[in-house]
Amino acid sequence: MHVILIGPQGSGKGTQSERIRSQLNLTSIATGELFRSAIKDGTELGKQIQLIYDRGELIPDHLTVALVEERIANLAREQERGSPLVGALYDGFPRTYGQADALDRLLADRGEAVTSVIAIDVPRETLMRRLAGRRVCAVCGRVYNVDFDPPTIDAVCDTCRGPVLQRADDTQEAVGKRLDLYELETAPLVERYAEEGILTRVDGDRVIDSVTDAIVAAIQERIPVVATRGR
Ligand SMILES: [Zn+2]
Repeated sequence: MHVILIGPQGSGKGTQSERIRSQLNLTSIATGELFRSAIKDGTELGKQIQLIYDRGELIPDHLTVALVEERIANLAREQERGSPLVGALYDGFPRTYGQADALDRLLADRGEAVTSVIAIDVPRETLMRRLAGRRVCAVCGRVYNVDFDPPTIDAVCDTCRGPVLQRADDTQEAVGKRLDLYELETAPLVERYAEEGILTRVDGDRVIDSVTDAIVAAIQERIPVVATRGR
């Protein structure tokens, strides 16, 4: 089973991804983590990625896809050896139409397909409050939120008494720009998967447990569809 999780920063995607992986026995295929581990392992791909990072450029699709392909092959090998993993949860991938095409091809080569795509919906005002309300202790790095989880004394860290500040990329303006970019990049992908009939939109503006339950239910609902495709 191949599940794609889509959601903007502040939607709780990271938390949900962890919970869903452990509940459904899925391995994580997250591009950020793939890049870091390739660099750490010093693989040929890792060296290429390091060079691109050093130049401050974006990792091109073909390298990202090559890493994903490697992980899918690893997963298949682990499953053959009796691993209890039942599939993969994709996080941060695909990001573009080209990457989505590549993933479809990779899976088709194995007689498989994307099982379901979950989009976590959170109203923009809520995302703005969650992200622009973020404050971080300059000394110990503890994270606060002025609306939901403020320090006891204004702007003073509960843990270490250090100054609690807003980072430059958490200002209203910076957060707004990131959310705009997200919309621009992912809206066409969401539309694509909706047309393919494999998209479920989940309301992410609720308590964490309810969101997890809704996502798990949506994923389980799609599993019989794969079986009838005769894979
Ligand atoms: Zn602190």
